[in-house]
Amino acid sequence: MTATAKEIMQSHQWHNLPVSKVAQHLDTNLQTGLNSQEVAKRRERFGSNELKSKPGKSPLVRFLLQFHQPLLYILLIAGAIKALLGQWVNAGVIWGVTLINAIIGFIQESKAESAIAALASSVQTNATIIRNGRKVQVPSQELVPGDLVLLASGDKVPADLRLIQARNLQINESGLTGESVAVEKNTQTLDADAPLAERTNMAYAGSFVTFGTGMGIVVAIGETTETGRISQLIEQGTSLKTPLTRKFDKFSRTLLYIILAIAALTFAVGLGYGNSWPEMFEAAVAFAVSAIPEGLPAVVTVTLAIGVSRMARRHAIVRKLPAVETLGGATVICSDKTGTLTENQMTVQAIYAGGENYTVTGAGYAPQGEILQNEQPVNCNHTPALEECLKAGLLCNDSHLENEEGQWKVIGDPTEGALIAVANKVGLTYSNLEQEMPRLDVIPFESEFQYMATLHEVSPSTNHRGQRIIYVKGSVEAILKRCQQMLDAQGNLAPIDPETVHQEVDAMAHQGLRVLAFAQKTVPTSQDSLAHADIETDLIFLGLQGMIDPPRIEAIKAVQACQEAGIQVKMITGDHAVTARAIAERMGFNKNGRVLAFTGSELAQMGNSELATAIEDGVVFARVVPEQKLRIVEALQSKGEVVAMTGDGVNDAPALRQADIGIAMGGAGTEVAKEASDMILTDDNFASIEAAVEEGRTVYRNLLKAIAFILPVNGGESMTILISVLLARALPILSLQVLWLNMVNSITMTVPLAFEPKSERVMQKPPRNPREPLLSKSLVKRILAISVFNWILIFGVFEWIEQTTGNIALARTMAIQALVAGRIFYLLSISQLGIAAFNRLRGIKQPVTDASAIGIGIACTIILQIIFSQWNVMNTLFYTAPLNLNQWLICLLIGLPMILVSILVNRFDPLD
Ligand code: ADP
Ligand code: MG
Repeated sequence: MTATAKEIMQSHQWHNLPVSKVAQHLDTNLQTGLNSQEVAKRRERFGSNELKSKPGKSPLVRFLLQFHQPLLYILLIAGAIKALLGQWVNAGVIWGVTLINAIIGFIQESKAESAIAALASSVQTNATIIRNGRKVQVPSQELVPGDLVLLASGDKVPADLRLIQARNLQINESGLTGESVAVEKNTQTLDADAPLAERTNMAYAGSFVTFGTGMGIVVAIGETTETGRISQLIEQGTSLKTPLTRKFDKFSRTLLYIILAIAALTFAVGLGYGNSWPEMFEAAVAFAVSAIPEGLPAVVTVTLAIGVSRMARRHAIVRKLPAVETLGGATVICSDKTGTLTENQMTVQAIYAGGENYTVTGAGYAPQGEILQNEQPVNCNHTPALEECLKAGLLCNDSHLENEEGQWKVIGDPTEGALIAVANKVGLTYSNLEQEMPRLDVIPFESEFQYMATLHEVSPSTNHRGQRIIYVKGSVEAILKRCQQMLDAQGNLAPIDPETVHQEVDAMAHQGLRVLAFAQKTVPTSQDSLAHADIETDLIFLGLQGMIDPPRIEAIKAVQACQEAGIQVKMITGDHAVTARAIAERMGFNKNGRVLAFTGSELAQMGNSELATAIEDGVVFARVVPEQKLRIVEALQSKGEVVAMTGDGVNDAPALRQADIGIAMGGAGTEVAKEASDMILTDDNFASIEAAVEEGRTVYRNLLKAIAFILPVNGGESMTILISVLLARALPILSLQVLWLNMVNSITMTVPLAFEPKSERVMQKPPRNPREPLLSKSLVKRILAISVFNWILIFGVFEWIEQTTGNIALARTMAIQALVAGRIFYLLSISQLGIAAFNRLRGIKQPVTDASAIGIGIACTIILQIIFSQWNVMNTLFYTAPLNLNQWLICLLIGLPMILVSILVNRFDPLD
């Protein structure tokens, strides 16, 4: 950005200028906004409305942090002592391996971090603005100074704005001022010295609209915004820490103390036997190195990162890494109905007006179709109540339809789109009515109130001369209680019978139709603004419109899949109970075969324990106001459930935060909801939640596999060294060789586990018990069993070869090769490939999944092992000896029984 451009944005005390002056300085038309040429010019001049993300820790620091692990300290110190002892080669190899380990860790971590950061920023923020006299949505980056921005509750303020309109506008600026209570905004000019927190006529970039609506002129963008200025101080960075990695950290710290104690003991015992102290130092180091699972942290990071990218491919963007793990353990999913479970493709199918019933033909938002009464098309001119009802739907409306390449699309709320489409079918259009009855004011729809109202001028030609009209639409409950009268079939006022109306609503709702009620009120011309109080009473009921919103086909399957996987699915909606229930039943929702439904007002009257039971047993929660979502999450959590909850509105944020996994909608969701969420669905589809759960379960299972794979080698090695020292035998493996096994070999063999495809049966098992520890009893047993087998392998081969050939280097090499052969068979047995093969043997058909990662891992392992013993450089570095073909075959044969061992172990600890 040029200095002059920057100066312009910072040169004025915008809050101190009246609106007209602001518009003049920024050369903006307050009605039509900027035009395209002007926008292009300003973009060139001012650049794009973006904060350059501040670099996090420098790469060097992050690289050095790789060594900041207690386990690695030991290695570095061991290397130093070896160097002091003059064993330079030895020291060099130890350092070299640690360095390689750090490089691998660094690369993996950087990749994982940038992947997550890229995903988070791929969720774009849009702003609604006025340009060329039209209301359009553009990505926030494209704003320029002078743009007119419309604000509505739930929006993130896209740039610094001087407000020119504010209607009950409240903005939360906690990110900027630290004040957590939302600030009431207005448009009055303020003193020049008003501090930031008191500039009530400004809206600052990055803050959130929590209530009301407003409009403002962009006065600063990008780095020149207030947030841009302070964010130089804020360091951005993605944390790769999750509850699981924290558990690992704790685990390795505990392990460290145990290892140090035992290593010291080994040292002392060995000296007591009369060994030399360098010898015992080697034993102690070998023990310490053998017991530490050096490869594990890298594998955990890779597994989590792969989980994140797999979820992204299936439309679920993880914002907070812990969600990857938590998802796999979800026991309840609470989902919005409209748009998530259903298509959000509304079509009006039934109308009730003036005491008469009508049906509507046609589908989607196209104007093709008819309104029928007793199978005959109606003429609107002869049915005044119907006409008023349709007009109300058309005028009390903030959306519009657009024809894009022959496809009719709704811009705005699909519920409102349906109302426009049905009016269009009988020739009523907004453009015509707008002339006759221009809108003067509006109360926008909010879930809390369940209605929307607009105030209209009435042209002198109509019979409402000298009056103005308010149209209201909303839920039946919200509208009907405000009506005392209705329009009858002839368009005359008549007393209303709520009982009959409710029967009509029930009839529509039972078919799964979403029902909206319409009403009007005439007011004197002196009224030129609208408040909630204006429509508390005396409305005239106009009728009902029932619209279909078909369930998403994929969502039906996904609900089924979740229920089979032991995950409860609950529908949370603001819609009518009967409608919600009809759709829930159609989609196969149930708990123990029943579909219990509760309404928000029923829940509100319950005490805590009664509520918890109702929420645990219920499947449909209708007419729920957003605040109640929080209570629902808390009640479920009090029953020990792991709760995933969807949300899109401003008021959903607390529930999203409280939920174990808060899920926001990428399309329909507000910025506030996205900000509070752990995960964002790019397609707003319930099926993507199910997909994410599936991936989450796979991640967890792959992590368990990695643990089950790595730890037994540590177990086997450390048992070998301990027992050999205690028996006063030569060490079957040296510290360097252990390092090779634990780092090079372990990583080559374990990383492929992170890429393991999901199991066919991943969704056929109940969720894991949230209280179950990572190392469950059966996993510990498995690790011990395989450890013992590994010990027998190493110790047995070493003693055998050493006693028969007297060649200690050969004995060590063969012991290691036999161990790796066993490892290969073990890896196969716990891989999807091995499990599928084994199931086939037992007669269970299972498609063979992609095993390329495991294949590559094994191939690399074999090549590395050949180099390890056949290349003379490695022979000097690692004290190995080359093997002949017979010896190779012997090692392979000795590893073979691992298959039997793992089949036995798989029985009591199936990792599938
Ligand atoms: P949901 O989307 O889960 O159905 P909402 O809170 O959006 O829940 O809607 C609650 C009720 O408010 C709906 O059942 C409907 O009767 C009414 N409603 C929904 N959208 C609008 C709107 N744009 N204008 C007026 N009333 C609406
Ligand atoms: Mg809605």
